[in-house]
Amino acid sequence: MVFSRHSKEYEGKIFSNALKQIRKAYEYVNISKDVCSILENPKEILSSSLVIEMDDGTVGIFPAIRVHFNDILGPTKGGIRYHPNVNKDEVKALAFWMTFKCAVTGIPYGGAKGGVAVQPRKLSVHELEHLSRAYISAFADFIGPDKDIPAPDVYTDSTIMGWMMDEYNKITRKQNPAVITGKPINLGGSEGRDVATALGCYYVFKEFSKRAKLNKKIRIAVQGFGNAGMNVAKLLYDDGYKVVAVSDSRGAVFNKSGLKIDVLVRRKKKSTKAGLSDVSVCDECKGDTKGISNEELLELDVDVLIPAALEGQITRENAGRIKAKYIFELANGPTTIEADEILKKKNIKIIPDILANSGGVIVSYFEWVQNRAGYYWSKEKVFKRLREKIVSSFDKVYETAQKNKIDFRTAAYVIGLQRIKQAIESKGGEKWMAM
Ligand code: NAD
Repeated sequence: MVFSRHSKEYEGKIFSNALKQIRKAYEYVNISKDVCSILENPKEILSSSLVIEMDDGTVGIFPAIRVHFNDILGPTKGGIRYHPNVNKDEVKALAFWMTFKCAVTGIPYGGAKGGVAVQPRKLSVHELEHLSRAYISAFADFIGPDKDIPAPDVYTDSTIMGWMMDEYNKITRKQNPAVITGKPINLGGSEGRDVATALGCYYVFKEFSKRAKLNKKIRIAVQGFGNAGMNVAKLLYDDGYKVVAVSDSRGAVFNKSGLKIDVLVRRKKKSTKAGLSDVSVCDECKGDTKGISNEELLELDVDVLIPAALEGQITRENAGRIKAKYIFELANGPTTIEADEILKKKNIKIIPDILANSGGVIVSYFEWVQNRAGYYWSKEKVFKRLREKIVSSFDKVYETAQKNKIDFRTAAYVIGLQRIKQAIESKGGEKWMAM
């Protein structure tokens, strides 16, 4: 079963959808129209055609992009995505979400994102390395430890980050571990960065569970079984929760008594190289474990749904059929603005992406701090600091939502906007010159 990426209604509208999310928050922050306009426009966009020699001697040309959305709070930060559907609209939206993710968690970064329009599965490891080095060669002047710091995203991983850092070091003729995060540990990566996005979501889930009084009998479905989805499914499974469905790009599996997540993880990990796996969770369809589609997974009768794949999965077409009571957005932008309204009327609570998946950027920030200090922390210290940071961000979002009687997404944007507004005001009379 192959899953269509998202509904036609969403094509070319990812960024405008993202802007509608923030507009709901303006009325709760005393913010001028000028500032709103600045916050709705990316600062800089650079595009390039990456040219590499393929293994068969032919030339491959791949469109690539990097967007710096806003750097009021610090150097910009955001992942690099390899996916055939990467386009300017999507990358602008992802960079916008990064801006507010850093703001809501109080990290001294602005927002950026990058990507290459490529089907990475079709490339050999050798070609993937060429492509990754070509990306850095094209964008070397646009990134830097004090300017813009990339990281992994969909179909990119620590191996690719290692190649990219090495290329940047060659170009600049010096060691720059802080230019990129999510690197292999032996090249200056941080302990715990590999599981950080999922672990952050798990910490938020546990805090929310205390307030909503959720017990371990709840049923959970996770869409996407990569870095984010696989690790959160494993954390929940190890903690005794019943994960009844998971999926990847080939389809989903469902077992009403709960899946053996440890078995799925072992199989998937064994075959993963450079961000890709040739094994699907669907290969585990046997006995009581049934194959279903990704669409069916979203509509299962579960308590908690964790979309952890791509944006635009919950739309006005399927929102009415969603049965979960709680949605934790581990992916960026999985819910469209129309779906948000429908889910709200059904009293379904959403923990928004800019909070739920912020564990990745929080530990990326820790990696950058460690690289600059040249002093590395233990995994325990990383996890403790991640927990403190994300739980205090969750508490603020929760309180803001209660106080203003607004949903958690709007509350998260209110906090992000307040931080950015204060930073602009602190810049004084020359503030517009700096933007
Ligand atoms: P990944 O490449 O490790 O995994 C992506 C997963 O999604 C794979 O299992 C893939 O098979 C699945 N997938 C791809 N297309 C799909 C489709 N059409 N339907 C269902 N599943 C599909 O990527 P990741 O890093 O886990 O990223 C997943 C999401 O989490 C993205 O939205 C990403 O932006 C977000 N995110 C990732 C990080 C991070 O640190 N990796 C941080 C924050 C947010």
